[in-house]
Amino acid sequence: MQLSDIVKYYNEYMDKQNQINKEARYDGKESWFHASGAGSCHLKHLLNSCGMDGVEQGSDSGRRLMRLGTLVHEDVQSSLSPLVWKRDTAILSDDPTGAKSTVYEGNDLLMEHEITIPSLNVRGFLDIADINHKDKSITIFDIKTTASYKWSFIFGRKVDDNPSAMYELQIATYAMGLAQQYPDYALYMWLIYYKKDNSDFREKPVGSQYLGFAADYWMAVNEFVDAHKEKVDGFKKEADIQFEQEGNGIMVREDFKAKIKKFCNPGDQIDLPVASWECNPLYCKFHALCPTIIKKKI
Ligand code: SF4
Repeated sequence: MQLSDIVKYYNEYMDKQNQINKEARYDGKESWFHASGAGSCHLKHLLNSCGMDGVEQGSDSGRRLMRLGTLVHEDVQSSLSPLVWKRDTAILSDDPTGAKSTVYEGNDLLMEHEITIPSLNVRGFLDIADINHKDKSITIFDIKTTASYKWSFIFGRKVDDNPSAMYELQIATYAMGLAQQYPDYALYMWLIYYKKDNSDFREKPVGSQYLGFAADYWMAVNEFVDAHKEKVDGFKKEADIQFEQEGNGIMVREDFKAKIKKFCNPGDQIDLPVASWECNPLYCKFHALCPTIIKKKI
């Protein structure tokens, strides 16, 4: 066996794990927007909700990096136990006779907990939430693995003149989901960063203003998708028929792109995309189907 064999088998294993995860979480739920896509291009949500296939173009090493992130998540979550946390946060009475009775049963700990917000058509899975029923507060943690370059913008002296709010909008979406269940609880949000270079952990709070920003974002996505879904479903049907009749995939794709361009001209409109880096085959599986032309850094 050589290194190339090990890498080949590992890549195949990773693909299988990703497929299992996708089937378990998302198959049959295509009409929902993904909370993890909070803050991203509205057209991506539209094409997703129309069931467009797109092409995943991540490199092998890129996929292995993603897998590393998944493994860190799994490890951190495996180290936590809802039962132990409940026991450790329970409060017992301090009776002078020595008799102990439970005053407070302890906090609930949620992990990989599914959140759905039907009014905004969003669903997703939060990493960790600590629910304190005594103080009526919920603390939500979202784990982000990051390389030193990005870390230096978050915790170092470098200033990012174009900071992304995607992480903040994502955790705020989870918080909105839990707030439906516990409407009178205070919400606290923390991004937990794990630095891939040296396994350091740091945290960053997320302000409550992001709850409003996330609600606004998902309302805008709903508006955009509602306005155009029927149209794009029609384009998709026409493309299928055209391909069956003519068999020329390139022509069909170019026609589809021209139709998309007519109604939304991606690359030249606010929120299509939200950030210029999104229009890259590595980050957008619809890149080949989209007529985007980025004219300036967004
Ligand atoms: S290529 Fe850019 S504009 Fe087109 S769907 Fe993807 S992110 Fe949006």
